Amino acid sequence: MNSFAPNDPISSFEAVSWFFEEAANYLQLSDGIKDLLRNPWRVIHTQVPVRMNDGKINVFQGYRVQHNGARGPYKGGIRFHPDATRDDVTALSCLMTWKNALADVPFGGAKGGVQCDPSKMDLVELNSLTRRFTQNIEHILGPNRDIPAPDMGTNSQVMAWMMDAYGQINGHTPSIVTGKPIELGGSYGREAAPGKGAVIALSVWAKLVNYELKDRKVAIQGFGQVGKAAAENLIKLGCIIVAISDVNGGIYNSTGLNIDRLNEYFQENQTVVGFESSDAVSNRELIELPCDILVPAAISEVINSRNANSIKANVILEGANYPVTPAADKILNESGVAILPDILVNAGGVIVSYFEWVQNTQQFRWTEEHVNRELERYINDSVKTAYALSGSVQTLRHASYIVAVERVARAVELRGFV
Ligand code: GLU
Repeated sequence: MNSFAPNDPISSFEAVSWFFEEAANYLQLSDGIKDLLRNPWRVIHTQVPVRMNDGKINVFQGYRVQHNGARGPYKGGIRFHPDATRDDVTALSCLMTWKNALADVPFGGAKGGVQCDPSKMDLVELNSLTRRFTQNIEHILGPNRDIPAPDMGTNSQVMAWMMDAYGQINGHTPSIVTGKPIELGGSYGREAAPGKGAVIALSVWAKLVNYELKDRKVAIQGFGQVGKAAAENLIKLGCIIVAISDVNGGIYNSTGLNIDRLNEYFQENQTVVGFESSDAVSNRELIELPCDILVPAAISEVINSRNANSIKANVILEGANYPVTPAADKILNESGVAILPDILVNAGGVIVSYFEWVQNTQQFRWTEEHVNRELERYINDSVKTAYALSGSVQTLRHASYIVAVERVARAVELRGFV
């Protein structure tokens, strides 16, 4: 591994390319294959005009980036977020290629996004936005071409609208999206999978390195799909959740938060802020709180060269995509913090998406127990594979990238399309 790391600030795509480059150099890939794998195969940038409820037309920018399809149909979520720029969506599409290869699901990698603020739109406006975006990219989608899923700012309802809009043109096609509502062919266990998968990855790793999880203090940034399920599953392992946050701010109690009561409070108030027996902390402060395990499960780049030296945790579980910049990664590695990287840890969502696609294709529903058993098997395999290599290449991130990049490069070579 190179001892140099690019300084912050750095664009998301440059950062993800940096992690890729390190693995590609280790594998001694040719310059041509490196060029092919560094950059996306196809980028669609489309206007998404929506007539808002006040009668005005708003034109949003939409993207679908297909990074690499050597291992199977393109696969990855659709994000509705103000930061869903071309650069961010491209970086996230690369992460999907590596994540899918490492998890060994038969998919390539893609990501989509519409730059908007869904919290300022109602269901009618969001339905129109989703339909228009789907119509605009429909020609590059397909159950054997490209299969979207939920991501930040989207959910099973958005997937239902996408499936319907695609079906209006192509006929009823449940396998065109994953993360659908159960009633429309969604899979049991899909909603909890990203958070649950992260905790399975942590416990597999903990056993490998003899790290006792019981009574560990955990701070979680984010109380969305990943953070919530992660908190519930960490408690089952005997961990103590000392801090948690959402977009409005965070809460801290050094002796532990009652997550059942917090869930009820969140349902009523739509925020964790103001929860009983806790101190208010900002999202920035949460990263630096005294704890053993830090779980960034919200947005990108929250751990960077400004705060990496102040982190107290000795384990970082990357529930979010790209929460740690290359500069911070270097600082933390040097100070002995164990980082369980995003492409290894947050694959639970796409693994169960794969099961959903299989169920849709076979028109046969699995039980929740079956889904969870298979999820554990997949994560167990990928963590053990990455861990086995990490001894000789120093970090779990570097090892994860090497395994993933090698698998994709091999698929490119076997297909013989260059
Ligand atoms: N958006 C999720 C991710 O970043 C899931 C993608 C999928 O299921 O296709 O992994």
